[in-house]
Amino acid sequence: MASLNKLQFTFTRNLNKLLTVCFSSGFEVTMGEVFRTELQQQVYFKLCKTKTLDSYHLKRLAVDLHLFKDNIFLSENSAYEFLAEYWGKLDPRNFAGYYWGWDAMHFEMREYERSDRR
Ligand SMILES: [Zn+2]
Repeated sequence: MASLNKLQFTFTRNLNKLLTVCFSSGFEVTMGEVFRTELQQQVYFKLCKTKTLDSYHLKRLAVDLHLFKDNIFLSENSAYEFLAEYWGKLDPRNFAGYYWGWDAMHFEMREYERSDRR
């Protein structure tokens, strides 16, 4: 298994590519969390802002991106579909929250490959 550092390096390089696609597609982007402490995760869990205590944010292997077009924040899931598709093509270990139906702004890299080829 690849070391955590090696995964984090690859994740960060892929995040760079993801951001570049955002900009070249005419969007502005702000970032939410990348790293999250266990305490913060527990708070989110209690507030029902997350469904897991085992987030990839704890490993610096996840990011939340907020897309803007003409200074308008895009909150609809559909706005993130093209990014989810691109993210999946960058690495078979990349997962996009868009496909879960409740976390479209979330992009993460796991230690294992997806079963699909999205
Ligand atoms: Zn997230």
